[in-house]
Amino acid sequence: MTTHPATETGIAACTEKLKQGALVAVPTETVYGLAGDATNANAIAAIYATKARPQFNPLICHIADMETARAIGRFNEMAEKLAAAFWPGPLTLVVPRQKNCPVDLLASAGLDTIALRIPAHDVAQKLLHTVGLPLVAPSANPSGRLSPSSAAHVRDMLPDIDVLDGGDCAIGVESSIVGCLDETPLWLRAGGVSRHHIEACLGVTLSQPPQEKHAAARLAPGRLARHYAPQSRMRLNAERAEDNELLIGFGSDAPHDCFANLSPSGDLAEAAAQLFATLHAADDAAQHGARRLAVMTIPIHGLGEAINDRLTRAAS
Ligand code: AMP
Ligand code: MG
Repeated sequence: MTTHPATETGIAACTEKLKQGALVAVPTETVYGLAGDATNANAIAAIYATKARPQFNPLICHIADMETARAIGRFNEMAEKLAAAFWPGPLTLVVPRQKNCPVDLLASAGLDTIALRIPAHDVAQKLLHTVGLPLVAPSANPSGRLSPSSAAHVRDMLPDIDVLDGGDCAIGVESSIVGCLDETPLWLRAGGVSRHHIEACLGVTLSQPPQEKHAAARLAPGRLARHYAPQSRMRLNAERAEDNELLIGFGSDAPHDCFANLSPSGDLAEAAAQLFATLHAADDAAQHGARRLAVMTIPIHGLGEAINDRLTRAAS
């Protein structure tokens, strides 16, 4: 597709696309990211589909400034300190989602936390300021391929995606990730900022994420089998709700009185976009009425693979 130069005109064209919910590959100082509007569930679903990720990993949300960051996540003293020292730059902070967080739950893969970063690349900065929206932007490569560090890499691997050409990435590795959820900062991923520099800034040693299954699932979902799980018992491949069940439907065969239909037309991207919000709402309703959840069969192709992966974990 189109390669846009990093000029005012090029950035304006990419801004228009992103506002309409389309995806654009954008340069950052780490790698090129496949960017989409973080407040738009359909755009986020399109990112997973384009990367052909078999799972919904939570995504890093890129923002222009601290004010935007604080509207999305809750920053404790440590998070404020790290942001002041290393932003803009290759450090991602995982913090609790703010009440009324504008970023769609799909970006958090259903978790109550959010990963945030202000990138240092001047083209990324200009774009974020012009768009005025938070952008999720995992590496712009199909799942399992090498991360792209130039516009040519992106064109080669994702020929249908528009690219904003900001030259070669200076760092070429991913951002470091630190979890700031309570008084104990967690070292979640090694990357562009060294552990030593982070510890020197905080004056404390970073902890490894706890091994205890439940806590760990919340903190480092990328590494664990069990991600977000509803509290309610859940039955998969249901055709109808049995007594005491709330049914999550899919497709035109779903009964009209089901609790929610992930996509009445059977569109897997729409179902992915609705998945986490629907699971949360259905779980709340089921807990209130002491009921169980049942989910109709979702086909396993395309985004259906990631949807089924998550449903299977949630039901286990
Ligand atoms: P990337 O592929 O560079 O966009 O990084 C995504 C990775 O960030 C995920 O695979 C997680 O390991 C991590 N991550 C994102 N959001 C969270 C979160 N809410 N909690 C913990 N880790 C997260
Ligand atoms: Mg990647």
